[in-house]
Amino acid sequence: MPIVTSGQIRAFEYRGIFNWSIVNPKRPFRTLPCADFAGHAQGFYVYCCRVASLMGNELVQIRPNGPSSSASGVVVPPPEFRTLPPETVGAGKTFYIETFGCQMNEHDSEKVAGVLLARGYRPADSDDEADFVLYNTCSIREKAAQKVFSRLGAIRKERRSNPPVIGVLGCVAQQEGDQIFERAPWVSLVCGSASYSRLPDMLALLENGGRRVTGLSLDVDECFETELTRRDHPFRAYLTIIEGCDKACSYCVVPMTRGPERSRPSGRILADVRRLSSEGFTEIQLLGQTVNSYRDPSAARLSFAELLLRVAEISGIRRVRFMTSHPSDFTAEIVRAIDAEPVLANHVHLPAQSGSTAVLRRMRRTYSREGYLEKIHCIRSARRAISISTDIIVGFSGETEEDFGETLALLDQVGYDQVFSFKYSPRPKTLALSWADDVPDLEKGRRLTVLQERQREIQLERNRRLVGREFEVLVEGFQHRLGQAVGRTASNRVVNFPGEAAWRGRYITVRVTSAGPNSLVGERVGGRAEAGTALE
Ligand code: SAM
Ligand code: SF4
Repeated sequence: MPIVTSGQIRAFEYRGIFNWSIVNPKRPFRTLPCADFAGHAQGFYVYCCRVASLMGNELVQIRPNGPSSSASGVVVPPPEFRTLPPETVGAGKTFYIETFGCQMNEHDSEKVAGVLLARGYRPADSDDEADFVLYNTCSIREKAAQKVFSRLGAIRKERRSNPPVIGVLGCVAQQEGDQIFERAPWVSLVCGSASYSRLPDMLALLENGGRRVTGLSLDVDECFETELTRRDHPFRAYLTIIEGCDKACSYCVVPMTRGPERSRPSGRILADVRRLSSEGFTEIQLLGQTVNSYRDPSAARLSFAELLLRVAEISGIRRVRFMTSHPSDFTAEIVRAIDAEPVLANHVHLPAQSGSTAVLRRMRRTYSREGYLEKIHCIRSARRAISISTDIIVGFSGETEEDFGETLALLDQVGYDQVFSFKYSPRPKTLALSWADDVPDLEKGRRLTVLQERQREIQLERNRRLVGREFEVLVEGFQHRLGQAVGRTASNRVVNFPGEAAWRGRYITVRVTSAGPNSLVGERVGGRAEAGTALE
């Protein structure tokens, strides 16, 4: 019987019943159902599982639940294990994925890792010794795209004596296409995110010695569904509900790199959440470039707000987050759902990009400053206090000092809890590329600093108001040197407080004792908070 250590993802091949449990012999009460089937080869099923890190660092076993009957009543023989035949799968080769960019990319990497694990590849700790090195790239700003080429140069030097197979995935792959082979001939795979569902075929080509394998079509109507997804975060599970983007912001490469909008059927999303809950995840983060543009393609026709409510009611789920919302598709129904259901986190990320209607029009953002403020008013009118974060671009083509002043005034007017701010970076194939990039880089830098300093004051002021209040936090980490637990409130604020490493993954009530601009300091109060309590 295979034995695996906690936290690992393992692939086994077996023939026989599908009825399995992961059992920890020392803690027999904790049994995890397993249902990740990842294709089959030569009559044997390849079975992969993630062993929940909640089970501690002890050995656990994969055990059959005994002989069972098939639907027709015929007794199915107990399973038979065998080692993976070298000609069918990764043959024990190792892989390493380095991810650049946003949570969507992080989650794509988790799914790509799942595809590799299902083929028998094993994860390596670094790119130093991996047989297969993949870079999952971001091209949202020029600097991010350049980083990839410098990594490609570095790995060629570092691994000259034992070169790995190298793949470039994601936005840079889609944007640069097979020109990457010209710039870096040591790359063997170039694949954009819209082609990830074809990855198994591409891997088969590489395994058979293929060179210059590409997946660059944007003509897709399907989402990247995997039988297995590696989970890199122990308590929060990311779940893509909509891929691509149908908006056409004049500065943005995403519609070109990720293809048209495709929503997943609600039934599949809910089944995924149920499985994640049974695996021990308590927080779900629904993902999409414009997550609230979700349109259920199934007969259920759930609206985005209805989907949120259905996810929140799944047993074991204590927090549901979603990212990123587009202001034009943000509805009062979403606010009503957050108000009605405490499991829905009281935090909305609503990128404004600019406070000037003239700039927003050139950005093709499809809303004005006033329209955006109406959405903010709707969120602020909720019974629950909902925290709001945003993205801002400074120095966009034609942005005047007055336009920038309107953005600063927007920060004051809204009172954001967090702002992610960027200097405008002209990108290939975008509409704005043909316009003058007429705010000098030095001036963009100055505006960014002014904006960030202003926002720091706002955050400090807002956080100070929370001193003395109590919040439920999910403990995400522990700083051994300081003996501090690191928790996160439902409203997405970080709270550091004296604690224990064993508290990771638990929901604990803390009282805020002091506040900084970016985090709070607190102390534990009382016992464990009730499931899903939103104290804000
Ligand atoms: N879909 C989201 C929305 O509509 O707001 C944004 C997704 S994008 C990956 C994340 C952020 O990158 C954007 O909100 C924007 O602030 C920033 N961004 C996108 N293109 C940019 C560019 N060309 N230069 C600078 N920042 C950019
Ligand atoms: Fe880019 Fe605009 Fe789509 Fe967001 S909505 S991904 S900024 S095009």
